Amino acid sequence: MPSERQVRVGTVPIGGGAPVAVQTMTKTETADLAATMAQIHRVAEAGADIVRVAVPRDKDVEALQTIVRESPIPVIADIHFNHTLALKALDAGAHCVRLNPGNIGGPDKVAEVIAKAKQVGTPLRVGVNSGSLPAHLRQLEYDNPVEALVTAAVETVELMERLDFRDFKVSMKSTSVPNTIASNRLLAERIPYPLHLGVTEAGTKWSGSLKSAVGLGTLLADGIGDTIRISLSTFHAEEEVKVAWEILKALKLRERGPVLIACPTCGRLQFDMDSVVAEVERRLEDYEDAIEVSVLGCAVNGIGEARHADFGITGAKDAGAIYSKGEMIRKVPTENLVDELFAEIDKYYAAGKKVIRDEAAAAEARAWLAENEDATAMTPERLAAMEAAAARENVALDETASPVAGRRFTRAPA
Ligand code: SF4
Repeated sequence: MPSERQVRVGTVPIGGGAPVAVQTMTKTETADLAATMAQIHRVAEAGADIVRVAVPRDKDVEALQTIVRESPIPVIADIHFNHTLALKALDAGAHCVRLNPGNIGGPDKVAEVIAKAKQVGTPLRVGVNSGSLPAHLRQLEYDNPVEALVTAAVETVELMERLDFRDFKVSMKSTSVPNTIASNRLLAERIPYPLHLGVTEAGTKWSGSLKSAVGLGTLLADGIGDTIRISLSTFHAEEEVKVAWEILKALKLRERGPVLIACPTCGRLQFDMDSVVAEVERRLEDYEDAIEVSVLGCAVNGIGEARHADFGITGAKDAGAIYSKGEMIRKVPTENLVDELFAEIDKYYAAGKKVIRDEAAAAEARAWLAENEDATAMTPERLAAMEAAAARENVALDETASPVAGRRFTRAPA
């Protein structure tokens, strides 16, 4: 269920059924305008909808005005501890200000920031962090960390409502993936405001991407979450954006750029597929359309599960073939597979998204495929298909034989 309420961060709607927005945070010193703007342009190009910048000093808030003016995407000012900086960031035109009301210096200071946000019409992101819950929730945090996090978030929401402010989204950050999932599920049931999702301090590009994919992917698959940030220990913020997009694309929540599918390879492989897949992935970065491209390590299985791909290649030791939507296009030498694949993709776009097929070349490719196909080989794909068929058959038998649909036994237990 999308959040009931929606806020707008600059031009980007968050919540209320809007597409899940991708955000990231710059890693530069914000006051270093050249470095910060260069990074903002890189993340925008990678697909960030919104960018957040840290504003810990006066010189950062001074730079903020220029950043907001020059940034191609809306800018969120990230403020901790100092409510004066929050006021200045709102005056500087930030499209949103992120703060944790619990660490901004007390109720009067929170009220001052809210009054200013209302006056300038700027939304806030308010949140709580598992590492800094208020003192009265310490025991609850010990007994039930999820409930403690949710209680802190609900108290923050109630504080905003008492101040008659509703233009905000909410975040609850935890380093624990299970707690992130459980707490956001609970919070989504309790409040109507948009949720910002993230696993805080997730880790390196490898482990952090996996943790985020599991934590955020689970929530997003449930329809929970309106904007996401992948926190990775890298100076290259665009990497966070790429991971966020892969999660959204995998869940079919948003489309951006091509989708590459590739077999996992096995002992039937006869060419350097590692390099081929890496090269295809690199060259696909130049394309914006959401075409699906498949790379198969061999043709023993025919085109198998890659039948629906817009374009694909499969190869053997000396030759391979290019196909589109399950139909062969032509046979090519293995060393030219990647170049010829992209030549076909470019022809397709030049022809107004039409696959150009030469019947003689296609027939040669079909003959090559027939030679290389082996209907008797036990490929991973065929094994998976057989297992799936067997499982379906078992369920059907169980459902026929048992009075209780879906039960796993067909005989009365002894
Ligand atoms: S049998 Fe399947 S997994 Fe193995 S190389 Fe061929 S396509 Fe890839």
